Amino acid sequence: MNTTWILPTEPVQLSHYIDGAYSAFDGEAALDRVAPSHDMVVSRAVKASEAQTEAAILSARKAFDQGPWPKMAARDRAKILNRVADLIERHANRLAVLECLETGKPITQAHGEVSGSATLWRHAATLAATTVGETHNTLGEDMLAMVLKEPIGVVSIITPWNFPFWILGQKLPFALAAGCTCVVKPSEISPSTTALLGELLTEAGLPAGACNIVLGLGDPVGRLLSTHEAVDMISFTGSTATGKMISRQAADTLKKVSLELGGKNPLVVFDDANLDEAADALVFGAYFNGGQCCNASSRAIVHADIAQELADKVVALSKQVKVGDPMDPETQMGTMVHDQHRSKIAADVEAAVKDGATLALGGEAYALEALPGALMYAPTVLTQVKPHMAVASEEVFGPVLSMLTFGTMDEAVEITNNISFGLSAGIYSNNVHTCLEFARRAQAGTIWTNTWMDGFPEVTFGGMKQSGQGREIGRYGLEEFMEVKSVVMRLGQTRDPWIRPS
Ligand code: NDP
Repeated sequence: MNTTWILPTEPVQLSHYIDGAYSAFDGEAALDRVAPSHDMVVSRAVKASEAQTEAAILSARKAFDQGPWPKMAARDRAKILNRVADLIERHANRLAVLECLETGKPITQAHGEVSGSATLWRHAATLAATTVGETHNTLGEDMLAMVLKEPIGVVSIITPWNFPFWILGQKLPFALAAGCTCVVKPSEISPSTTALLGELLTEAGLPAGACNIVLGLGDPVGRLLSTHEAVDMISFTGSTATGKMISRQAADTLKKVSLELGGKNPLVVFDDANLDEAADALVFGAYFNGGQCCNASSRAIVHADIAQELADKVVALSKQVKVGDPMDPETQMGTMVHDQHRSKIAADVEAAVKDGATLALGGEAYALEALPGALMYAPTVLTQVKPHMAVASEEVFGPVLSMLTFGTMDEAVEITNNISFGLSAGIYSNNVHTCLEFARRAQAGTIWTNTWMDGFPEVTFGGMKQSGQGREIGRYGLEEFMEVKSVVMRLGQTRDPWIRPS
């Protein structure tokens, strides 16, 4: 890619997108996002009050109850979703720079996520146009039944800071494809790309009210989105703690709740694996997005016979990761999201060493010479980690790989499953039987064999246990946003009367 990436000269001003139009920008009440890499304000976003949040919810409610969006032919909805995909690609460069600077992720990665999310919109469009229900023609001569699929209603979408535009793409186009109307709240840390999507939705012809975007804090915006009686479903991605709170908040109105939460994902390496490939997958999985990734391969569970050899390879590769200025196209790992989070990562590593883990590499916070304020944290490898240590079971959410060992398949499965999370898991082995046995026994929503973090719009994604509930993307992802309704019909006047004529 030959693009020259240029720093913006002034912050982008962001306001709510409600009922198809942007609200006025009010600088007095704006939240500033300072880049974790460069000494600059990237965005200034207004903060919604309860009244503004309610206006967005009621706009979505009206758009659902009165249409036109849920009542349109799905092929017409699909046309609009495809147009949004085209516009995302056209505006990807501008969006990528904002995403890079707000999150601290490398610019090439930000561009890949923004432009790549167009494939999610296109796949949702395909599913919209091909969704069918069931008919039952075998219930008896005089009976016929249909199971209809219907949009669930108004959906609140709350997203985290770390993959703002990609995660929005896992939810919003599928909800819209189903015929739902939505209210979206991005994280206040990285609101730009979500807020600017409103322009593209209008240009693509999405009817007013079908998607509303509200900026601001978890309280009041997120709280109202998960408690308001006009909302039918909440689709949330974020930390397990906030997910539990949202579940509790949604209980009073019994909304459907779909949650994509944290993970402590194991990559199990058997002694017959290709160790060079396994080491590369581990390094990619542990440091992608600076390890601030629900899908990070944060636990390596390695056969004891090859543990030292693999650790040496992992350390050698970790030293080669290009860590630096997120705006440099060569950078593979940028900054941590904010200072407090970087301190939490450092504290987790210190605690692990106190617990008996060996610091084989990294463990240091530093700045870049050219960017003295950049919140860097070095790629870090901990060996001699034991399953009882906090670092083996709790999400660090930073570039920290914990290496554990096992002796038998049973032990590998035991270490994999004996944890509250169940988002994803992986295995490296050259024996397909070993891979399949592990895939069947591991408790996780996605299992990768001889790869890590490959994903496709067609293949559903989600977590087991405390990593979440419900599924996203693929056919299952669309169906999360649908209700099913059974219509049972008697043909002719053949029903036996309950009250027989006396
Ligand atoms: P948080 O849980 O802190 O925040 C997520 C969103 O929830 C933000 O928009 C936040 O608003 C909002 N929120 C906060 N409080 C409330 C509330 N009371 N009611 C409703 N909404 C609220 O997560 P992070 O942004 O820090 O993201 C990191 C976490 O997300 C990690 O644990 C990671 O594993 C997980 N994650 C999971 C993924 C998955 O698919 N399983 C994918 C990516 C991340 P605000 O911050 O603006 O106040």
